[in-house]
Amino acid sequence: MNYSLRTKLSLSYILLGLILVAGISILSNFLLEKQFRDYIIREQEQKNKEYVNLISRQYNTANSSWGKGVVENIGLNALEQGVIVKVKDAAGKIVWDATTHNSGFCVQMINHMSKNMFSRYPDFKGGYVEKSYPITHNFSNVRSVEIGYYGPFYLTDNDLVFISTLNKMLISIAMFALILALFLGTIMAKHLSAPISRVINSTQQIAKGYFDDRINGKSNTREINQLTSAINDLADILQKQERLRKQLTSDVAHELRTPLATLQSHMEAMIDGIWDTDVERLKSCHDEILRIGRMVQEMEKLAKYDSENLILNKSKFQFFELVQHIVRNFETEFVNRGVEIYLNGNQVEINADRDKISQVVVNLISNALKYTNQDGKVDISVKDIGDEVEFGIKDTGVGISEQDLPYIFERFYRADKSRNRLSGGSGIGLAIVKAIVRAHKGRIKVISEVNKSSEFIVLLPKQAN
Ligand code: ADP
Repeated sequence: MNYSLRTKLSLSYILLGLILVAGISILSNFLLEKQFRDYIIREQEQKNKEYVNLISRQYNTANSSWGKGVVENIGLNALEQGVIVKVKDAAGKIVWDATTHNSGFCVQMINHMSKNMFSRYPDFKGGYVEKSYPITHNFSNVRSVEIGYYGPFYLTDNDLVFISTLNKMLISIAMFALILALFLGTIMAKHLSAPISRVINSTQQIAKGYFDDRINGKSNTREINQLTSAINDLADILQKQERLRKQLTSDVAHELRTPLATLQSHMEAMIDGIWDTDVERLKSCHDEILRIGRMVQEMEKLAKYDSENLILNKSKFQFFELVQHIVRNFETEFVNRGVEIYLNGNQVEINADRDKISQVVVNLISNALKYTNQDGKVDISVKDIGDEVEFGIKDTGVGISEQDLPYIFERFYRADKSRNRLSGGSGIGLAIVKAIVRAHKGRIKVISEVNKSSEFIVLLPKQAN
């Protein structure tokens, strides 16, 4: 069965209320009833003894006679209290007997008591009993008082009213407790289910693609706050991913449009006979095709590196050695371009993804070479600075303007679009560098001055984890 949180909480509260009230009622009824019964039995005995005592004082030992008038008064008084008194002398002769004095009233009284008892206890095993209390004088029984009453105990009308009032009170408490439980259960359930419903609504909206939907409002339940912030974080990530996806699609379309349009117009011109199909024109078309090919290659690289969850395949290696090796590979290109390259530094061991770090170094050195004119200079340094290694690369190239600086790490961003297009730049190299450095929990900064120099500084933790 699938119950709502509200129903479940309300039912639990009601059940708890019921168990508590039932427990209290049973316990109090059982204990009170027992105590009350013992109390009534004790009281009856006490009452009997008091009457016996009073009556025994009415016997005049000097002339061995009874003060009959007083005995009768005591007997009548006892009768009103539900006690039937019978006084006998030593010979067993009746001195005064309530049953003979007013037998009708006695029968009526006992019947009333019996009715009271059976109304409360239908299986009550009791009835009229007589108990004899001997009165001794000089160690011999001179007379006796017999007390008749409804035993082992009986409840008066007042006692019945008291018990029924007590029960009514318990029932009222039970009703009140149930209503309170229902009320509290509903409030608690509302309190809990309202934010959960908000979470459900927002999650459904997010699932439909409305990524800017967020759960607002704080709850005073810690787990619910954790749940809402987890969902909000999830929405943030999904929104970012969605933005990246859209941006990538539009960037790719934008990048491909120009070479394709050039190709199309050149081809059409040749097909329509406007242009002669010569080697030079075919070569120009071929260049555009090569550019598209390069772009696709770069994009493949980006897909590999530009991922939030870039998987690093770490190992320990000498960072300086790696840079030295890459610089050597670049040497011929630098000589051909007439740019000098210098490398300084010491051996530093780092724990990182060797291939990806190589990609960072290669991209930065190739940029330095690409944006530095003939007779320029590129200085590379590797420094051990405590927990980190600092890789610096400074060129005396074209520099980057202040307006372009914040965007150079964005995908497909090129400071000078026309020139870079000719030089084959696609604006992806630095995006890859940033993704790799970030995956290693490192940092990258740039200092640049237009037409003077650019310096890229990469800081990598030696023990990236
Ligand atoms: P690209 O393929 O265009 O070089 P990058 O992502 O590597 O793409 O670089 C983005 C832009 O940053 C470049 O187009 C260029 O304008 C600028 N840039 C990068 N490195 C340098 C540098 N060493 N000197 C001057 N400008 C640079």
